[in-house]
Amino acid sequence: MPAVVTDIVAEIQALKVREDATILAHYYQEGEIQAIADFTGDSLQLARAATQVTNGTIVFCGVHFMAETAKILNPAKRVLLPDLKAGCSLADSCPAPKLARYQEMLRENGRKFQTVTYINSTAATKALCDWVVTSGNAEQIIGRVPADMEILFVPDRHLGQYLQEITGRKMILWDGACMVHEIFSVGDLIRQQASLPGCITVAHPECPANIRSQSDFVGGTEAIIRFVATLPDSCDILVATEPNMIWQLERRYSNHRFHPVAGISCACNACPHMALNTLEKIRDCLESGSPEITWDPCFDRAGEVLRRSLLS
Ligand code: SF4
Repeated sequence: MPAVVTDIVAEIQALKVREDATILAHYYQEGEIQAIADFTGDSLQLARAATQVTNGTIVFCGVHFMAETAKILNPAKRVLLPDLKAGCSLADSCPAPKLARYQEMLRENGRKFQTVTYINSTAATKALCDWVVTSGNAEQIIGRVPADMEILFVPDRHLGQYLQEITGRKMILWDGACMVHEIFSVGDLIRQQASLPGCITVAHPECPANIRSQSDFVGGTEAIIRFVATLPDSCDILVATEPNMIWQLERRYSNHRFHPVAGISCACNACPHMALNTLEKIRDCLESGSPEITWDPCFDRAGEVLRRSLLS
């Protein structure tokens, strides 16, 4: 590790003690950030981990809606997000006022429905919904929507399509997508598969149907980790999700070779929002206590929906 990185890591460790902090990091963060975290995970695991933190401060290395969720589920803690501009194209695609107007229009047309939101949404949007799902628990939560109700699924149309396929429930789908998963190139994937005979392809359900149908396994990041554990030694594994996930896979499974699937417009498909967090910003937010996620009135209602969906 370069000296400058070790210096920053040492500074962060000292500040963590001084500020009584726990660092949570998503699998899509740079490896050097995952390496210093107290806990790494997918959205569901991180939300649950946030409820267990006993230190006074949580430094959330992920994007804004995740840090909001941590604050909502453990309101007594100070929650810091290293870069407040770390957003999400999915959360941006479904602003609360637009969702409220659409729900009103459906009700005026006599439609009986419950609204299910992917966790990748703002707290204001969650506050308008009946359920929150992650890629890890979506199938189970969909089963809790009464059979005589329609489902309005927001904001990810690709995950919604996938859930329709595996649950058989018809859904009204919001027209949102993840800017990272939407741009995988099926042509490049087929070429990569041809160049690696016997390879296994794993894909996140935020990928479009043409990528999912070309894959051997579809699941959220935690499900991908569990699937790889079942494979025989020495596989070539093509990974169709944010490429920092490969750091986590290589750390656990050095017996395999992992290859990122290329994107149409970008060779790496890295999430530009996740990339805003850096070791320097983690140090600086611990030093200054800012940026901090502060309480908003919509957090009360969003909290009810989150707790019912993720913690019970
Ligand atoms: Fe949002 Fe996609 Fe980035 Fe995840 S990878 S934070 S869904 S833009």
